[in-house]
Amino acid sequence: MDPARWTPERLTARDVVAHHDVTLSFYCRGCHLTVEFNVWKVGARLAHTPLQELRFRCVRCGVYPETLEVGRRDSMSGVRLLTIPLKPRAWDDGHRADQEAALRRAREKWESPGHR
Ligand SMILES: [Zn+2]
Repeated sequence: MDPARWTPERLTARDVVAHHDVTLSFYCRGCHLTVEFNVWKVGARLAHTPLQELRFRCVRCGVYPETLEVGRRDSMSGVRLLTIPLKPRAWDDGHRADQEAALRRAREKWESPGHR
């Protein structure tokens, strides 16, 4: 499918892998960094599930991102194609508690002396 026709609701990993210059990233509130995500990690089983419904997690700090940025890498810089508000199906009460704990840990680490 042509990236011009992608929508946040329908875009799947399978759509993305067909375009080698397309990148997925999210801004991690725990790390204060933009983290690039490798779409191949989504795996075959979930390849047809809209990305919006998947649950992503920062491998550094465990915080769950709330939006996913879809961009295109060109020779000079990236071009933003789409912002996907994430609505994971697995977002339940346990998930919310996990998120708060991960954010708290990240904040403590960030504010501790000696960081940076
Ligand atoms: Zn993080």
